[in-house]
Amino acid sequence: MSDSSLLPNYSLIPPYMLEEIINNGDTRQKDHASLTLIDINRLLITDPVPQANKKYDNINKNKLVRSISDAKNQESLPGILVRKEADPATSDIAVNEAYDYLGITYNFFWQKFGRRSLNNQGMPLDASVHYSTSYQNAFWNGERMVFGDGDGQIFNRFTIAIDIIAHELAHGVTESEAGFAYYGQSGALNESISDVFGAMVKQFHNNQTAAQADWIIGEKLLNSNINAIGLRSMSAPGTAYNDPLLGKDPQPDHMDNYISTRQDNGGVHLNSSIPNKAFCLAAKKLGGYSWEYAGKIWYNALCDKEMKRKADREGANFFNFAECTITHARLFSEQAARQVQSAWHEVGVW
Ligand SMILES: [Zn+2]
Repeated sequence: MSDSSLLPNYSLIPPYMLEEIINNGDTRQKDHASLTLIDINRLLITDPVPQANKKYDNINKNKLVRSISDAKNQESLPGILVRKEADPATSDIAVNEAYDYLGITYNFFWQKFGRRSLNNQGMPLDASVHYSTSYQNAFWNGERMVFGDGDGQIFNRFTIAIDIIAHELAHGVTESEAGFAYYGQSGALNESISDVFGAMVKQFHNNQTAAQADWIIGEKLLNSNINAIGLRSMSAPGTAYNDPLLGKDPQPDHMDNYISTRQDNGGVHLNSSIPNKAFCLAAKKLGGYSWEYAGKIWYNALCDKEMKRKADREGANFFNFAECTITHARLFSEQAARQVQSAWHEVGVW
């Protein structure tokens, strides 16, 4: 078993993005980015609350149970409870978005994969909004989702994009399944799995097939005056933004351009684009809705006990996961296995 005390707090915004703002922004922009970066670095060394594997007593494991709290621009959690399950909408858009998108993510995992919440044990879904002041990040701390308001100039409120909420929640799913350690290739795989489920939840919400989807993560998160279509592109990594404030999207689209770095936990938000693109290619090749074939294969690989044993014992890399997805694709058909294999081949993993 992996040591749950080593689980990190999963930040959405990588340090290198904030460092660009600190280098290129005006005084106000520098200040907000610096404060967020200090908090992200604090989160990295703070023990998270590893509850994804915890058994919850007295809960109906087959029921969706949400709660949204308002941190009132402070940094203590959870803040004041403002909306619990079955309560009507409030006048606060961040509260309502968090509540609705937690529900859609829960429904997606239940309807498409028969999974009850993140740990498949009906774990309640809790979130806090309005965390800190002009905070440019969202994170999952093992127990709850936490959203900043953004600074309004560069980043909009972090509840705005359903795939971001699903991305953070999917970290909880990965924790309770393969548990990919959050460093280097294994960490980039962990990040990629979150983008994969984030993209699928967005497509589920929009009722789009793999061919119709835009494969953009964090659409609308960046303000309209920033030259960006989102935070990341799964179909064309490295093209999500190119702006004087943020610099150019640094994500590679092939193993030939794999970034070796100690920053960002060994590039977990950088190289995640390689398995991201493999998933996008596989989903398009296999056709239909992404969760029908590619998503099911990725989900089954993530939940494969052999995958977990390998990840716990010696760590997992892109190749190990690719191999596992090809094995699961074969359960559909030989043709599906060939298509998944060719997707991994196109990004240089296979
Ligand atoms: Zn993440």
